[in-house]
Amino acid sequence: MCEAFAGACAAAPEISRRALALLGEPVADPFWRVAREGVLERLSDVSCVQTSAGQLRKPGEVLLRGSGPLRRASELLPGELVNLSCGRSLCDAGDAGEERLLRRLGAETFSARHFAQCLAYQGGAWPRGWVAATWAEDVPSGRRIAALYNLLGFIMRPGDESSEAQTSELLLQLPSLPLFPLLSKGQSERPCAKLEEGPIFLGICSALTETWQLALGESGALRLLPPAVSSGLDSLGAQLLASLGVEAPSRAQLAEAALQRLLRLQPGAEAAPLAFSCWAALAVLRDLWAEPETEKEIRGLAAVRQALVSLGSCGSLEEAKKLMAGQGLGALLLAPAEKLQPPPTLRCPSVLGHLRQLPSDLVERIEAFLGLSAARPSPNLQTWPLAEGQDGQQRKLEALRWEAFFVDCLGAQPRRPADWRQERASPDLVFSLGQELGSDGPRSLWVSLLDEKAVPDAVFRYAVGRLEHSADRAWLAELPARATLKLRELFLNGLYLDLPQLGAAGRGAELQKRLAALGARARLDVEGLSAALQALLRGQCRSASHFARLYLNIDTLETTGAAGAAHGEDVEAALRECIFDPAVKEPMRADDCVWELPKNEVLTKCCHLTVLSDIYASFGDVQMKRYFERRGVPGQPHTAECYLRMRSNLMNAAEEFGKAWRRAEGNPEMAMVPLPSMAQPGGKISATDFLDQIWDALIFIYKGMSTLEGQERQALRPFSPVEAILVPLPGAGSMLEVARFHDGALFRRISVCESFWEVAPDLADSVAALWALSGFFPPELRPLFVECFGVREVVDAAALREGIQARINHGKRGGQSRGSGGFGFVAGDGRGRMVNELGLPEELLRALGGDTVTEADALAAAEEALASLRRRGRGGHSGSSDDEALAGATRGRKSAANRWSAPPAWGACAFVAAQQRRRRHSTAAAAAAVEQSAPPEIFRKDYQEPSCWIREARLTVRIFEQRTEVRSRLRLERAERSGEGLALDGEELRLKRVVLAGLELKDGEDYNVTGEKLVISTVALDAADAVEEDIWLETEVEIKPEENTQLSGLYYSGSMYCSQMEAQGFRRFTYYLDRPDVMSKFTSVRIEADEDRCPILLSNGNRIATGKLPEGRHFAEWSDPFAKPCYLFALVAGDLASIQDKFVTASGREVHLEVFAAREDKDQLWHAMRSLQHAMRWDEERFGLEYDLDIYNIVAVRDFNMGAMENKSLNVFNTSLTLAREDTATDDDYESIEGVIGHEYFHNWTGNRVTCRDWFQLTLKEGLTVYRDQEFSSDMGSRARKRIEDVRFLRSYQFPEDSGPMAHPIRPERCAARFLAATVYGKGAEVIRMYETLLGRDGFRKGMDLYFQRHDGTAVTCDDFRAAMQDANGRDLSQFERWYSQAGTPVLKAADTWDPEQGIYTLTLKQSVPATADDSGTLPMPIPVRLGLLDRATGKELVPDTVLELLEEEHSFELPVAGEEKPVPSLLRGFSAPVQLQYDYSDKDLALLAAFDTDSFNRWESMQRLGTKAVLDALAVSC
Ligand SMILES: [Zn+2]
Repeated sequence: MCEAFAGACAAAPEISRRALALLGEPVADPFWRVAREGVLERLSDVSCVQTSAGQLRKPGEVLLRGSGPLRRASELLPGELVNLSCGRSLCDAGDAGEERLLRRLGAETFSARHFAQCLAYQGGAWPRGWVAATWAEDVPSGRRIAALYNLLGFIMRPGDESSEAQTSELLLQLPSLPLFPLLSKGQSERPCAKLEEGPIFLGICSALTETWQLALGESGALRLLPPAVSSGLDSLGAQLLASLGVEAPSRAQLAEAALQRLLRLQPGAEAAPLAFSCWAALAVLRDLWAEPETEKEIRGLAAVRQALVSLGSCGSLEEAKKLMAGQGLGALLLAPAEKLQPPPTLRCPSVLGHLRQLPSDLVERIEAFLGLSAARPSPNLQTWPLAEGQDGQQRKLEALRWEAFFVDCLGAQPRRPADWRQERASPDLVFSLGQELGSDGPRSLWVSLLDEKAVPDAVFRYAVGRLEHSADRAWLAELPARATLKLRELFLNGLYLDLPQLGAAGRGAELQKRLAALGARARLDVEGLSAALQALLRGQCRSASHFARLYLNIDTLETTGAAGAAHGEDVEAALRECIFDPAVKEPMRADDCVWELPKNEVLTKCCHLTVLSDIYASFGDVQMKRYFERRGVPGQPHTAECYLRMRSNLMNAAEEFGKAWRRAEGNPEMAMVPLPSMAQPGGKISATDFLDQIWDALIFIYKGMSTLEGQERQALRPFSPVEAILVPLPGAGSMLEVARFHDGALFRRISVCESFWEVAPDLADSVAALWALSGFFPPELRPLFVECFGVREVVDAAALREGIQARINHGKRGGQSRGSGGFGFVAGDGRGRMVNELGLPEELLRALGGDTVTEADALAAAEEALASLRRRGRGGHSGSSDDEALAGATRGRKSAANRWSAPPAWGACAFVAAQQRRRRHSTAAAAAAVEQSAPPEIFRKDYQEPSCWIREARLTVRIFEQRTEVRSRLRLERAERSGEGLALDGEELRLKRVVLAGLELKDGEDYNVTGEKLVISTVALDAADAVEEDIWLETEVEIKPEENTQLSGLYYSGSMYCSQMEAQGFRRFTYYLDRPDVMSKFTSVRIEADEDRCPILLSNGNRIATGKLPEGRHFAEWSDPFAKPCYLFALVAGDLASIQDKFVTASGREVHLEVFAAREDKDQLWHAMRSLQHAMRWDEERFGLEYDLDIYNIVAVRDFNMGAMENKSLNVFNTSLTLAREDTATDDDYESIEGVIGHEYFHNWTGNRVTCRDWFQLTLKEGLTVYRDQEFSSDMGSRARKRIEDVRFLRSYQFPEDSGPMAHPIRPERCAARFLAATVYGKGAEVIRMYETLLGRDGFRKGMDLYFQRHDGTAVTCDDFRAAMQDANGRDLSQFERWYSQAGTPVLKAADTWDPEQGIYTLTLKQSVPATADDSGTLPMPIPVRLGLLDRATGKELVPDTVLELLEEEHSFELPVAGEEKPVPSLLRGFSAPVQLQYDYSDKDLALLAAFDTDSFNRWESMQRLGTKAVLDALAVSC
């Protein structure tokens, strides 16, 4: 049988193939097994298979493609190559059985080894290997090479153990394979490099100029992978290359490559490219040198310098040539002139060796090297970095960078022309320092130089350094006066103070001459130096050493009696105002300073005085102290007030310490304690340091008090008789023991009249002896306590007993009595203090048989506590009744009997509140950060509709520990442009299945997963279209929320799963069209999870079903009837507690409200609930906007990287903006929670029902909603205060953004950079506010109504909003568009005249819109100016609120006014436009406005201006 069969097989390959199939699987039957073996044996000789190329081969000659990534590898390579390199042909097996059989007959499977052989092969059609050949074909995109790396990365991806043995072998071979095409000029001719031949770099060092590095790469000095290849890498490809060490070059590697290029090249070789690459090498060295981190000398740079120096000493060209032989730089300098091609922008007139005696031809060459000779720019140089795309300013700076490098680093001789006006080369090509200095205007070089941010430090140092040379200064002295103004500032900020000390007479005279030459009028007497000090202060100089030198100079003059030492009173007064502390902006007064305090951090921080020795002692202890003493600064604190403040700060610090201690988890000794320092709010100290120092600090204060005399001693009176003395609580010894024993409480406060210095002999063995003050304090303090404070000197048993009894009795009577010594009850200010509240030791009371605390006492204490809470001013926000608070206070008092009753440190609270406010504003920053991760350079104008819409979404989310499955079903509707496939966004998703219209799609055929897209082919879509009307696309993915640390998408946060989808988080959850204009109804969101771990399952909309599942799991299903973009989707699952309430809408619908948080936070949620209810009511009343669903949920999450997020009906908040309890939250906390709850709720209409078409329109929802929350807060609290707060925010955060380097309009045009939060949010809200100012509140409301009527349920643009405002009011608002398209803060100048005859007041308004970094335009803005006019004599309002509209650059408005005198204008009331107003108010005007203006904002503003003016006037001393 076998014979016949084999014959048949040999005759017809088809039979052979079928026979193979028939033989099938191995079987157990012994007969058939033997028969099968026999057949197989014969078959191996005769059978043949068809290869992929269609040829017939024996099984032993084929390679099976196999499956998985190596199959993809086999598909990537040409069959012929495999054939040649492995000696086998590729073949596809029909199924697993056939594959096994073929292997049995000698076939092999394509493996990593074969892959390596193919890649190593050179020959045939691939003389330099496959990679080189592929690269030659694919130079522009480099995609196939990148695909190869990606595939290799995929094959060798970490963690794939199944094929580890094979792939590690491949990995070992990679360095010896020619896999890496290098960047080069002649692309196709270059073979591919191997890694073992030297380092290969992927990309370039990001800190340095790109072009130069690429030039180094092209010349071969740096082995760079072409950018076309590196840009095509996916994460696995990049990972693979990184593990092979193919990464961007380090600084050291760059420097090495550049130096080698300069020093090792032979002269004469390839002259033109040589010059080019030498320049590139120099430029790289220059950039490295100019970078501030360069601390060490770049190795080898000395050799370059040496080469240059030696060159200067050569006598002839021959000599120079000999010297430079073998050195690349020499080759550059000495190459024939026509072969040198320095970039045209390097024409820098600094002259290397300009004054040296060189042969003229050598000079010419050197000048050529420096770009001094006239150049004929050749066309092929136009691609040099500076040739295009940079403005004149950048070119000048670039030239200055070169100059600094040559002169400062390489030691070239700077040029000091005798007459700077005469240039040798044509001026337009030449950069000249002298010329630049002479120019003026906002972009002058000196302005840039003074703004150190824009200029590299090295260049700045160089420019300043040049001023030290007398020749340079002589030249500079000839410059026009306006240039020297800037120069003088520069000079005073640095140079002058670095000059040698005064003292040596000759030098003093020299210095004076230099000063005069520069136009500075500072003289070298005390008066002159005092003027210099003032100039430093005015110039905002922040360097203490500069001040110190001037102080020292003055002291020297004063002490030695040198010229001008006897100065007048006014000079002395000026000097006293020039005490400088780097930590404080304003100059210090002598009263605010002290020379010295003991080295004790607690003390220093508790003392509100500036300790000058900390700043200045290092410059000369004795001399500095003497100088400051002359200015009235005391050696140590010397006023009672100061000591009392220190003591009270110390008490606060101890209170804060206690809180931090009790709050600390684990080891409280590691806690950080906030200190009430004025200079550094938020300054902290570790608990152990605090405990080490606090007692010494307290003793220092008491000792200081004891040294006071006379009036000051009298002023300590507040201490007596009701003030308390601080003594440590009982403990084993150290303060640490005390803190441990009393849970962070440190001191007991004993009333003065209840304390005693020592005990009489009859109490010597009693507990009372432990409380004698002499046991705590050194004997020298006895006079202070006894004589000054009135502490009883000695106490005996009878007196003690009597005193205590009296106190208890008086206490019960409510504090009418007044003790004066002894132990009676004391009530100095009329308020009763309770038994033991002052901290008299209970042990003491018990020991003496007195009553201890009674129930009535406790109740009274609680009342006191309640009153104290009320005094802190938060009754208005309190959600609990007095009874609750009373109970709480009683509980609190009992549990912490030893705590202080002092109020918390308000400074610290204010700081925390400010932080929270910042967090709230950081929402946009976070959204913008997501924007930033999108590919660079997306333009607003390039918006395109998607090729498909998603009309409905149904999700099933199954949460398991460590993995979550998301199944999504999307109903698609193809858009007009449906010729394209559908590209869904997805990041870090594991795709398991794609089903379209019921049919499972095939990877690589019907769909492709590339990078961060899942692309469904048009063919598949068309096919689905043909079958069904509704196309349903189903995908299944797996995600890992537990590993998601970006907090974008679904993530796990300690106790719960939580989502954040704005701006682009949904793509990290499932495949979707993640863009805001795709709005769909999420009709079903089913969440399944373990019931114990996640009893609460939440999503948007209404809950339509819940139920149990096997294995302790359960589910909840949600449905949201409103279409929404996916960034508003939310999911929360976890173990949460909640509070519930309801809200009845204006139309009578009942809404269930629920606020969730971790269980321990449940008691802190009521304020959030009340705020929500207020917001819902307010929006109905003000805008007629009702809530639209039956449920509204808020969840407070600890790890939430935004302030809060407005997901439809399921808001997620950071706990800091949700939780508030009376004993921990401040008024600011309460207000900011209310504001943010309002903000997110208001988004339901402005943001959710009507959303943004694309992220460039972010301000459409955010500006509008911020405006709405501002209005809400204004109506809930004080409108004026809110307005002032908002304007201050705008001025301090947004105005700087507007004039900064990243300025953009509120609606940005492109997304290359980060969106600026204060602009999009804050200025966006101002723009909305201007609509209201222009249209009136009713007109604005009409516009809002029309906006919702037109656009409800859609995604729109800022233009649509403007159109609604315009159409509803019949106004032309087209010019208003400029507020959306132009950045910058307009300057509004106002001037006025008064015609008493006619009674006409004329106001001329003139605006200028500054040019901004983004060049968005400077056309006149429409500016609404709200104003009123006040009578100059009486302050009465003559013209009430009027809104003028400035549309042109300048316009005069006439207002009829009755009156005798020119009225006083109150301009820009309520800050009616985000502009900078300039009007020349007199002090009197301002005072009048501050007193009488009807506009609260302008009253505040006038006070501010008045104050600022006063300070500035005081400082305006001429220099
Ligand atoms: Zn918002």
